[in-house]
Amino acid sequence: MQNQAAAEDNDWNILKLLQWTTTYFTSRSVENPRAAAEILLASVLQLERVDLYVRHDLPLSADELGRFKELIRRRVAGEPVAYIVGKREFWSMDFTVTPAVLIPRPETECLVEAALRHLEDLPEGQNVLELGTGCGAVILALAARKPQHCFYASDLSGEALGVAYQNACRHALEKNVRFFCGSWLDPVQNRCARFEMIVSNPPYIRRSSIDNLQVEIRRFEPLMALDGGEDGLRSLEEIIGSAAGSLKAGGRLLLEIGHDQKQALEAIINRIGGYEDVNFIKDYSGHDRVVALRNKIGPA
Ligand code: GLN
Repeated sequence: MQNQAAAEDNDWNILKLLQWTTTYFTSRSVENPRAAAEILLASVLQLERVDLYVRHDLPLSADELGRFKELIRRRVAGEPVAYIVGKREFWSMDFTVTPAVLIPRPETECLVEAALRHLEDLPEGQNVLELGTGCGAVILALAARKPQHCFYASDLSGEALGVAYQNACRHALEKNVRFFCGSWLDPVQNRCARFEMIVSNPPYIRRSSIDNLQVEIRRFEPLMALDGGEDGLRSLEEIIGSAAGSLKAGGRLLLEIGHDQKQALEAIINRIGGYEDVNFIKDYSGHDRVVALRNKIGPA
């Protein structure tokens, strides 16, 4: 091992460091302190998390300790673990994340599940589009599970699309998904056939609530992926208003929503019209998290 002398001097091994860091993170009110300590230490040592336990008595070099200390400092300053290590797991797949993209949330797996349920019985070759793809987690989770369909994704941020494309390559799915830069449907309208399904997790936080979010979100995540305008509904409304024109007759629109937005959305959907079979789906915490709409069969 490099720096053996330094390592023996300082006497820190993996287990001791994890214990110390967990206690420190707890005292500084860091969320999930043990998990955070493990992910950061595994990243410094370039080990898998489970290997920290297999090699619990491995001493650390002074250099490794120095780098770990810097990551601890960043986490305590509020930076999310996913940005510090540059990746996050979603749908059992690892995704590269940078501050240009929202960190995928566990509740967004609810959107993936609903989309997969709908794709279950359809013949191959369906067109599926994601609006505001960010790091690409949703569309890539779908493409990984259903390689027989054709996937498309748009984002207003070129930087986010760079991350999404990197993730497509990471999972050998770069031939399964076509990426477009632009606002919602703008870049795909008139360029692609109509879609069987459009999915999106658009920004839906009320602007006035953003200042009350945790520092991790407020200071580090991209505002454009969170800010849903004065009432939080601006992007949802815009997508509901425009998606029908790009969906096949009978095609589905699936949107992630805020836990308290069901009633407001029912009113918007009624007012805009053009949809039927409106279903609200709850996440594992029992919150309304996804709305699924069916484009009314009728003249195109
Ligand atoms: N669920 C995210 C949060 O709570 C918000 C995501 C979004 O606006 N689409 O921060």
